[in-house]
Amino acid sequence: MKKVILVDDNPAILTIMSKRLQAEAVETLTADNGADALRMTRENRPDVVVLDLMMPKMHGYTLIQEIRNDPDLSHVKIMVISAKTYAADVDRSLRLGADRYLSKPFDLQVFWKTIAELLGGTPPPFTLRFWGARGSIATPGPDTVKYGGNTACTEVRCGDQLLILDAGTGIRELGLSLLREFQQRPIKGHIFVGHTHWDHIQGFPFFAPAFIPGNEFTIYSLRGAEKPLEKVFRGQMDNDYFPVLLSEMKASLEFRELESEVNLGEIQVSYIFLNHPGLAVGFRISFAGRSLVYISDHENYGRLSPGGPSPNPLDLEIARFAENAELLISEAQYTEEEYAQKKGWGHSTFLDALDLANQAKVKRLAIFHHDPSHDDTFLDQISEFCQKTIEERRYTFSCFLAQEGTLIEL
Ligand SMILES: [Zn+2]
Ligand SMILES: [Zn+2]
Repeated sequence: MKKVILVDDNPAILTIMSKRLQAEAVETLTADNGADALRMTRENRPDVVVLDLMMPKMHGYTLIQEIRNDPDLSHVKIMVISAKTYAADVDRSLRLGADRYLSKPFDLQVFWKTIAELLGGTPPPFTLRFWGARGSIATPGPDTVKYGGNTACTEVRCGDQLLILDAGTGIRELGLSLLREFQQRPIKGHIFVGHTHWDHIQGFPFFAPAFIPGNEFTIYSLRGAEKPLEKVFRGQMDNDYFPVLLSEMKASLEFRELESEVNLGEIQVSYIFLNHPGLAVGFRISFAGRSLVYISDHENYGRLSPGGPSPNPLDLEIARFAENAELLISEAQYTEEEYAQKKGWGHSTFLDALDLANQAKVKRLAIFHHDPSHDDTFLDQISEFCQKTIEERRYTFSCFLAQEGTLIEL
């Protein structure tokens, strides 16, 4: 029989969790403080310990460390369930050795699914697919077949949850693919838009699932500089620009202006401001002990305004935001020579992206937001340049150029 120890100083939460696990024939033991939990873990050697962070007698971080420092307990899986949703707390817990982080309040079904995965030993799928990797404007044609001509759109799947990064022209094909996959079943998704320049929202009016009643989408981005987020989306579908109004999209659409991190149960999405004309943010999606970071569009602070401290503290902040990610999707549009002509346009060079990935100690880098003037042959050369630079500088991450249609597993 599988064994789980539950630790929380709230007796009501302990009862709810115990009952759910007992219904699945899992033996459960409970403790209301960290010190008792550690003693019980050593005595009973459970398969999983579920713990809160803010607990009497021993903080959750200490409990995680004590378990991880005990060689007899190396098989024990740890799941944190906390009301703290700060990316810093999630990251610290995972760094100290927790396997999962679930934010309170949590869905009991999600709770059980996560425990079941820990007991079964297989992590839930965390995948992404690029539907548009081009920056600025769509560039279809024979010279962009390999990397694709659609503008920014990336589909992310965390278990069975659907997230979408940006709604550039690539979202049209994604929408059709979702309709094929879901058939008559309702589609629910979370669309995170880094900023509302055309290349990041222009596909939205062609996102077919948004026209079907019963589907639900939440669109997250910053409030516009002088108007609400919803008005920005309504504006691009004004009859002067488009034949169909936003109000004719019959799915349930909720526009949520970002004010703090977004907690989607076992998925946490945090954001950081980027250096780009107007307002723009990058995202970090943490799920099942792994993180994906999306930085588009962005110009290195130090390079744009040299003369201050080097490295620029704002660049260090971006690197910290991306720290230890499994995959960093970073925009890069220019060679060093091109940048000399395009300084101040709000975009990075290929070397900037490589530097950022190195500073952030990520495992993989995907270069994204390809310049409309760069054809497949040129981008192949850039790919070679990046590999050569990584070898010369002895960087430890791997790098590839985002290609429309590619499926990546994290
Ligand atoms: Zn862009
Ligand atoms: Zn932009």
